[in-house]
Amino acid sequence: MFSSIRSRLWLTYAFLVAAALLIVAAVFVVYVIRNPLAYRQALVKLTAVQGVLLARQEEWENLPPDRLERLFARQGETLEARLLLLDDARRVIVDSNPSAPALDLRRLARLNQTTYDSEGSPWLFKARRLENGRTLIVATPRPRPALLTVLADELMPPLLVGGLMALVLALFLAFGVARWVADPLQRLVNAARAFSGEAARPLPVEGPREVRALLQAFNQMTARVQAGQNAQRAFVANVSHELKTPLTAIQGFAQAILDGTAGTPEAQRQAAQIIYDEAARLHRLALDLLDLARLDSGIADLKRDPLDLNALARGAVERFGPRAQAAGVRLDLELEPLLPEIPGDGDRLAQVLDNLLDNALKFTPSGGQIVIRTRKRGDELEMQVQDTGIGIAPEALPRIFERFYQADPSRQRGQGRGAGLGLSIAREIVAAHGGTISVRSAPGQGSTFFVRLPLQ
Ligand code: ADP
Repeated sequence: MFSSIRSRLWLTYAFLVAAALLIVAAVFVVYVIRNPLAYRQALVKLTAVQGVLLARQEEWENLPPDRLERLFARQGETLEARLLLLDDARRVIVDSNPSAPALDLRRLARLNQTTYDSEGSPWLFKARRLENGRTLIVATPRPRPALLTVLADELMPPLLVGGLMALVLALFLAFGVARWVADPLQRLVNAARAFSGEAARPLPVEGPREVRALLQAFNQMTARVQAGQNAQRAFVANVSHELKTPLTAIQGFAQAILDGTAGTPEAQRQAAQIIYDEAARLHRLALDLLDLARLDSGIADLKRDPLDLNALARGAVERFGPRAQAAGVRLDLELEPLLPEIPGDGDRLAQVLDNLLDNALKFTPSGGQIVIRTRKRGDELEMQVQDTGIGIAPEALPRIFERFYQADPSRQRGQGRGAGLGLSIAREIVAAHGGTISVRSAPGQGSTFFVRLPLQ
């Protein structure tokens, strides 16, 4: 019943108000009980009575006990005080009111201004030792406030009014504070329930700091989920698109062979060649997608063998040498000697190098040059693949590592045409080694790709 922030807050406020009022009431009651004013007045009166008696000390000092008793009784009545005379052993010689309960006179020594009678009622007194060793005592019952009357008449009404006003104030305050805290939370709950991944507007970030942090985290999370869903949709669209082109070609040329449009053996051979090439492209695409999926899910199972990057570079030059020669492009090595080994998966890193060299060859015209460089930079090893090719436009640079991104597909034709997956696979492999891949390039000035791998 009281599980909501609002009711809890209200309850807390009500409790605080009640506690504060109780404390005020307690302090007030203690003050009333001690009643300092009446207390002081009584003491002043006792001093005055004592003064009167002491001034007339000679008149009564030497009276016989029975006359002294009558005198004290009379004086006690007129001065409205109880008068006692004690001998030097503190025994009562005269008491102006012998029928009243006896006073506890042991406490007198402490010069305490309060003592108690045999019935336990408090008395205020003043004692004075006379020259003959006796002690004169004037006493009066300690003024006692009528506590209940005071409570009922003077304390209750202001406490009740104050309490009521404080409660109403607390209600408003609790309402405001609860709205401040609970409303953004409620909006968050509604948004979380309604979230379907479609373009949801970010929630306004308001309320206390913790709630604002929660709302911010929620907004970031929904943005990430949306980005993920968008990427997934784009991925499916891209895959379908990449499948469509070769499948259409395969279907078209197979049809041509079947219905005799490709009539001559030469035309049939050409159609079969195109079908073969497109099927090979589909096969490459399927392998690349499989690779990406493995790298994405972390099941690519990378080896961690000690690797010599220079050996890796030499191997790549051997593989690509004939293709470079055929394309009229020079393929050179600039290797730093005595490079330390790094832990890694040789086949996977060779795949990265192959992708970079494949691109470099695709985009470098005849007469150009490709250089593979290795060097040590701090606690990293760097491998560069530099070409003197067509370069990459500044607006394409930040996107070339995206899946399916091709800067200018119209410029690539024929068998070598990729699907825009090579660099994203390279990036995933390098990232799985804890490294980074980056590029520096300008149109017409060639491109340099940098692969940096940590030594440890
Ligand atoms: P693809 O398999 O289509 O080549 P990549 O992911 O390997 O896809 O490359 C993405 C795009 O980056 C390419 O389409 C190309 O536009 C650009 N690119 C990559 N390497 C180079 C390079 N060395 N010179 C110029 N452009 C490049």
